[in-house]
This record gives sequence, structure tokens and C-alpha cells, in this order.
Amino acid sequence: MIDLHTHSTASDGTCTPSELVAAAVKNQLKAIALTDHDTIAGIREFLAAAASHPELTAIAGVEFSCRMSSGDHCHMVGLFIDPENARLQETCVQYCQWRDERNANIIRLLNEAGYPITMDDVLAERSVPGVIGRPHVAAALLAHGHVSSMRAAFEQLLGRGRPAFTPRKVLPAATCLETIHAAGGLAFWAHPMTRDNMTVAKCERYILELKEFGLDGIEAYYADHTMTQTRNVLTLARRHGLLVSGGSDFHGANHQGVALGSGYGHLHVPNELLDEILRHHQG
Ligand code: AMP
Ligand code: MN
Ligand code: MN
Ligand code: MN
Repeated sequence: MIDLHTHSTASDGTCTPSELVAAAVKNQLKAIALTDHDTIAGIREFLAAAASHPELTAIAGVEFSCRMSSGDHCHMVGLFIDPENARLQETCVQYCQWRDERNANIIRLLNEAGYPITMDDVLAERSVPGVIGRPHVAAALLAHGHVSSMRAAFEQLLGRGRPAFTPRKVLPAATCLETIHAAGGLAFWAHPMTRDNMTVAKCERYILELKEFGLDGIEAYYADHTMTQTRNVLTLARRHGLLVSGGSDFHGANHQGVALGSGYGHLHVPNELLDEILRHHQG
């Protein structure tokens, strides 16, 4: 079993990169990729921790949100990225600046809605310096007794259409894919079926658009994909000559019920996918 989509404390996960490696070894995964949102700050620790476990393939990755021509956002996972690449580093800085602006607006809207949360309350919810996102705001709301759970924070306040929702500035898909490629990575469209109103036909249209910009692969195996969704994505991948990836999107305690490797219990990402990805990456 492999897991090519995970988050650490460098973004909105609750395990450090070293703890992720330890959990991967314990769960006997053959490979794990660290794919934090908008940052590569966890990669050094992740690779160092994995160096003493030759039985585990550790892959440096990242996850960016990007914009399609329709205005919809898609998530793009880059695998095998070079964390020293200057353009990639600059892109991470840009995304974090956009997040800072957005976080300030989310807090202003919460205050206006009668929730006296401060940026310090939100910063207190991260264990190490890292990317701040809505999960940290949700944790602060929970810690101050304003909501009954993280999920409730999204449903009542932070999610799309709720009082504190603030859209996020992101790069156009073409630029996002260019950045991943410039850093030597392969680009995979992550959890393609999880968007509201996503259909197989729309998924195929988006694949065609993303392929123009050099999309390498697509995440068919995913904790929140149904078996039918996985099967449909596999069919599209075959039809359009895309590599296939898969992962749990593990966030530790921030995604309740999602385990490393096995997701909600039924996820099984075949080892052979990585063999194929490696053949493509090295060839
Ligand atoms: P952001 O990147 O700041 O827009 O926050 C999005 C992150 O919030 C996702 O990557 C998930 O980790 C988390 N998230 C999104 N929706 C929910 C939800 N309903 N309950 C808990 N966490 C969520
Ligand atoms: Mn997340
Ligand atoms: Mn995502
Ligand atoms: Mn993710």
C-alpha cells in the first residue's frame, strides 16, 4: 500500500513530518508523499526522517489550489518536486501572502458576525510556524467555545456561502502546472470528483483543459471518492493517457476518521501506480 497525499504541521495536518514517516513505517506503507498546502517547509524534516528507513520511499510533494478558465478552483498535487527550486519557493511565498490577506478578512467577518476571535487566537492553534488556513480558524473557534466541532465551524461560518467565507486568490492552472514542472515535479489533479456538482463529463472537460498545460496524472484513489467515482476516473485516465495516483489526504486529528494509507478504512492505493509514475519520471 502507498499514500501519495498527506499533510503535516507545516500546513493543516496535526502530525509533524517525522511523525508521518514513523506512522508510514508502522503501517508498513511502501511509499508516502508529503503534500502540504502551499508550502515545502516540512520536506527537509520529512526526507531526513525517512533516510533511516530504506524500506519506505519518501516523495517530496506540494498541493496548490489553481483556477480553471470557468473560475472553478482545482487542487493540484506536485510529486517529486525539488524543494530548493527558486520559482517553487517564490510561488509558496505568493500563496502565503494571499492567505494572510484572506485570513485577516475572515477574522474581520467573524468579528462583525459577533465572534470575537483574534489573529493571535488563530496563531495559537498551530504547533510550529506554518501555513495558516481555515482549519486553524476553526480550531480557534472550537477552543473558545463558539462552535461544537471543526466540522460545525465550516458548516456554520467558514464554508462557501457562510458568513465568514472569503475566496482565496490562486494562480491560473497553466502557471501552477508550469511551476510544478519547473521544479522537476509531475502534476496530478487531486480529488477531481469531490467538488460540488462535479460530473464525469465536466471532469473530462477539465482534463482536456489541464492537459493543454501539461497535466501528468490524476488522483483516482482518494478517501472521499466512492468506488464508482474511482472507476470513472480510472476510465478517464486511460482514455487520456494520464498517470494515476492516490492517497488519503491524511490531516491527523484535523480530518476525523481518515487514517494514513487506508482513509476511512476502504482505501487501498496499489503499489503498481508508483512503479508506473517512477518509470515516467525517470524516463
Ligand atoms: P483553506 O485551505 O484555508 O481554504 O482550508 C481548506 C482546508 O480545510 C482543507 O484542506 C481541509 O483540510 C479543511 N476542510 C475543508 N472543509 C472542511 C470541513 N467541512 N470540516 C473540516 N475540515 C475541512
Ligand atoms: Mn487541508
Ligand atoms: Mn485538496
Ligand atoms: Mn490535501
